[in-house]
Amino acid sequence: MSKILIVEDEERLARFIELELSHEGYEAEKVADGRIAVDMALDGDYDLVLLDVMLPGLNGLEVLRRIRREKDIAVIMLTARDAVMDKVAGLDAGADDYITKPFAIEELLARIRVALKHKESLPQAPALQEEEPPQTQPQAPQSASVLQIRGVSLDPERHTVAVQGTFVELTLREFEVLRVLMSHVNKVMSRDQLAQLACGYDYVGDTNIIDVYVRHLRAKIDDRFGIKLITTVRGVGYVVREA
Ligand code: CA
Repeated sequence: MSKILIVEDEERLARFIELELSHEGYEAEKVADGRIAVDMALDGDYDLVLLDVMLPGLNGLEVLRRIRREKDIAVIMLTARDAVMDKVAGLDAGADDYITKPFAIEELLARIRVALKHKESLPQAPALQEEEPPQTQPQAPQSASVLQIRGVSLDPERHTVAVQGTFVELTLREFEVLRVLMSHVNKVMSRDQLAQLACGYDYVGDTNIIDVYVRHLRAKIDDRFGIKLITTVRGVGYVVREA
């Protein structure tokens, strides 16, 4: 059973989410204070944290940064509808996903399922050892749907990405942006298209989020492995070309 920490100071909303998660078979706990949330997330064995941005004690972004320094745990941010800056800052600080308030509970449950599934699929690389090259090599036979371009292979079924045989750890949305680009090889994708295909309908209008994901992908793939995977097409969007 997956264990979820709800960090939310709106008591009624927190209780509602807790109840819904319990119905779905999750073990859920809630906390309203940012500082206590950091302690709980670091000491506890949670699989996922739902994290509100505006919190007493310590704001959600700072909570996220402190968790990320020590733990690689799935985090979904709960943000206000128009707080684009919060979203960008949250993604920069390592959030796996975000959902805007108010949201439909089915949408939140769907995102939780996807984030947990994505996290499970990641290779078991210990956190805080980024200097060490990962030891894991893809060994099992790949599924038929694997996309392979320029030494990068992306397995949509297993949710894994390997570059030159080395697994790369991506957040859920980074993975989705890369998946969309690689499955539309040689086709320039606009930020709107990427937002819709990789992130879902409610991301429309937040297209600068896509720039954040692409920046992360470049740091994790292009810069690290010395390849040029994602090309910017000025005024249009991004493309992954075959050669
Ligand atoms: Ca709040």
